[in-house]
Amino acid sequence: MGYELISLVYPFLCRACDRFVAREQVFCSDCFSRIKKIPPSFISLTTNISIKIYSVSDYKEPLRSLILRKKSSDRLAARQLGEIMSRLDVGKFDYLIPVPLHWTRYARRGFNQSREIACVLSKKFDIPVVDLLKRAKRTRFQSNLSHDLRQDNVDSVFVVQRKYHDIYCAIVRGKNVLLVDDLCTTGATLKNVARPLLAGQPRSISAIVACRVV
Ligand SMILES: [Zn+2]
Repeated sequence: MGYELISLVYPFLCRACDRFVAREQVFCSDCFSRIKKIPPSFISLTTNISIKIYSVSDYKEPLRSLILRKKSSDRLAARQLGEIMSRLDVGKFDYLIPVPLHWTRYARRGFNQSREIACVLSKKFDIPVVDLLKRAKRTRFQSNLSHDLRQDNVDSVFVVQRKYHDIYCAIVRGKNVLLVDDLCTTGATLKNVARPLLAGQPRSISAIVACRVV
């Protein structure tokens, strides 16, 4: 089947304004030009370790709607975010680690948007994806917990997958790892994901997201 015929059946539309676009283009040039790029930023993890965060833009249109499509189980939207994120100029990394989704949410949505993004980035950057972590529990409502319990609740949100228990130090020691998520709001999630990696003594922990709330 020729490309023209396919495009008649499945027209390629801009994700923001529904105008026709060239094959595999996410946005038309007008909407693409509305993406306001932002430079990398840092959040501190410990007193002497920071996470460098690469992001395409602030949490604004047109990317905001693309991120929100995950609620409608739109796997293509996640892959399109990955496509746009792959244009970011990041350095050399050894592993991509997607932020895990709690299994109940995974069951409802059918996919983990962070992992979809990581798979696109893996091809473009030629870096392997390692599902090193899992989300142990959903973050409970914090305010009625005592301070110690609150800290414990935060610390144990993400844990190393059982199958990696014996080898995860060997995997991350001296390596540059890049965490992958769609959105960074306060940075708390990225910090929680990074914490269990510290025992493995990676050389650096960075993160890549589509949008960061600034
Ligand atoms: Zn458009």
